[in-house]
Amino acid sequence: MDERIDPDACIFCQIVAREAPAHRVFEDEQTLVFMDIFPVTEGHTLLIPKSHCTNLLDARPHELEAVVAHSQRIAHAIRRVIAPDGIGVFQLNGAAAGQTVFHYHMHLIPRMRGEPLALHGRRLGDPERLAETARALAAALEPGAHAALRATRDTR
Ligand code: 5GP
Ligand code: ZN
Repeated sequence: MDERIDPDACIFCQIVAREAPAHRVFEDEQTLVFMDIFPVTEGHTLLIPKSHCTNLLDARPHELEAVVAHSQRIAHAIRRVIAPDGIGVFQLNGAAAGQTVFHYHMHLIPRMRGEPLALHGRRLGDPERLAETARALAAALEPGAHAALRATRDTR
């Protein structure tokens, strides 16, 4: 469970620094929310602390609290925009648990009844669709969140 990586080589740190593109939904000082580039379902969202940590074991408590608090607001936005039957929340720690990006993150995955359970998507999301969903989720965040909105379009 100790798959530490150099933050300079971390794709999520590059996204935070805007050195790599992402369809951003929300950000504030501590937290960034963006669309998963291989969505399991439409609206599959990732929440990360902006400062690098590997997983649940080395994440700082105040950053975990921020991610969880934002997950509730993003879940409400997902409900408004996607209207799923359910929302899966999961978070993997260590390659043995299926973690593939070693920067702590929480997944929010809208789910419809009867769909097979999956943790990872197999196909790259359509960039236009991801951008559209990111904008819709950003717009659906409750008042108070709007000051920190940064809905942008992926250029990848
Ligand atoms: P894990 O398996 O570590 O819990 O999940 C990592 C997630 O990050 C996967 O669902 C994968 O699709 C997503 N991902 C990997 N690289 C990128 C990227 O460059 N941009 C975005 N937006 N998502 C990524
Ligand atoms: Zn990182």
